[in-house]
Amino acid sequence: MSTPPFASGPEGPHALRPLLDTVLEALDTGARARGGPLPAGGPEAVAARTRAAVGDVLPDQGDPHALRTLVHAFAETAADPAHPLCAAHLHCPPLAVATAADLAASALNPSLDSWDQAPGASELERLLTATLAREIHGSGGPGKPDSLITTGGTEANQLALLLAREAHGGSVRLVYGTNAHHSLPRAAWLLGLPEPVAVPAPRGTLDPDALDQALTGLTGPLLVAATAGTTDAGYIDPLHDIAARCTTHGARLHVDAAYGGSLLFSDRHRNMLTGLDTADTVTLDLHKLGWQPVAAGLLAVRDAHDLAALRQHADYLNADDDTEAGLPDLLGRSLRTTRRPDVLKLAVTLKTLGRSGLGTLVDQVCAHARHFADLVDAHPGFELHAPPVISTVLFRPTDATDTTVAAVRRALLTDGRAVLGRARLDGRLWLKATLLNPATGPDDLAALLHLAAASRATLVEGHTSR
Ligand SMILES: *Cc1c(COP(=O)(O)O)cnc(C)c1O
Repeated sequence: MSTPPFASGPEGPHALRPLLDTVLEALDTGARARGGPLPAGGPEAVAARTRAAVGDVLPDQGDPHALRTLVHAFAETAADPAHPLCAAHLHCPPLAVATAADLAASALNPSLDSWDQAPGASELERLLTATLAREIHGSGGPGKPDSLITTGGTEANQLALLLAREAHGGSVRLVYGTNAHHSLPRAAWLLGLPEPVAVPAPRGTLDPDALDQALTGLTGPLLVAATAGTTDAGYIDPLHDIAARCTTHGARLHVDAAYGGSLLFSDRHRNMLTGLDTADTVTLDLHKLGWQPVAAGLLAVRDAHDLAALRQHADYLNADDDTEAGLPDLLGRSLRTTRRPDVLKLAVTLKTLGRSGLGTLVDQVCAHARHFADLVDAHPGFELHAPPVISTVLFRPTDATDTTVAAVRRALLTDGRAVLGRARLDGRLWLKATLLNPATGPDDLAALLHLAAASRATLVEGHTSR
């Protein structure tokens, strides 16, 4: 067998073109074979279909049709976030332009751990991270703001705790709301920090008085983590009030805006994030309300001096004499070494859509959530948890047990007709619609509620006939 073609080099684009045709066709045939947002049949049936399509994963002799076969099967058994009835998670449909840019990133394969692997990409990353840092922190505090690209909210939250620990000379105690993302206490565990303190979030948001009380009883360096856009409900903690309590108690503030951070792009909704710029660190996830292919996370720091803690030397990547001679030192911009240029799809998206284009997408999904909440509210068979804040709507069949709520969701998943999430709030289980698709229409939203109602009715019938 001759050497298989590579994606870069003078022949790269030529070699890629027919393969891309194959991929695009298989995406199309696979999606048609699926026919809905999720493959029907449940985990066992779907796994069996995947096994049958793949056959031998490592055959002795290669198979020239592997690309077509596997991409078709991959698409046929996928959850399609662009399907209007796929609304369970903060799992967004990626913009075509971002995905196309990601192809270029894969083809050239720059790695952002040294300048000689990513000469232009490193400058693009510098420009983009500085721009997003200013977007979040304005002119910053005493130092200049900056930001780092991460694999997502989990890595950004981890970095935030690490930077807080280092800013405090080696230890810090995390104080977080019970509404916070699980990655925060987990990062405290990973970093060997003192036992974190959880503060009540009675109505889904961190209670500032309860926070004040918790901070009063604690000694030693403290890091408060607030959330702008909770994963379960899209609620935003009272950032201004929380920032004031942090100042009073000399605590550092991290805001996990993995979900809600993109409200900054919207003229209509930006004011919901008032106070965000006072946080020492902010997490943002553009593979949620930013319509990026995974991964696209960011950690913004108010004062770039905090990043000195990440400085690292490896002679083969950033020798002092290379740095003195003007080669940018990139190693301190991540805990990773080899690093994908996720910056390209981000830069292409921001420039293609502009702030107003992104803001419009944000406004559209927020409007969809309000409309869906109105439909729920008007339906006698459903109860609405509360008016939506961002693009998440929690609802449940009236007079249903938690067991029924869970069964309604699983029945829809097994049918492959609609994908709804679940959230436990106020002691009850809710169905969760996370609306991240700007192209969803009013008919789609009506269909989503109709399917949930039909699923509930079927369960009730099944129960009474037994
Ligand atoms: C999604 C989410 C995270 C985790 O982000 P990943 O990108 O999945 O690692 C953290 N915090 C909040 C509030 C989130 O919604």
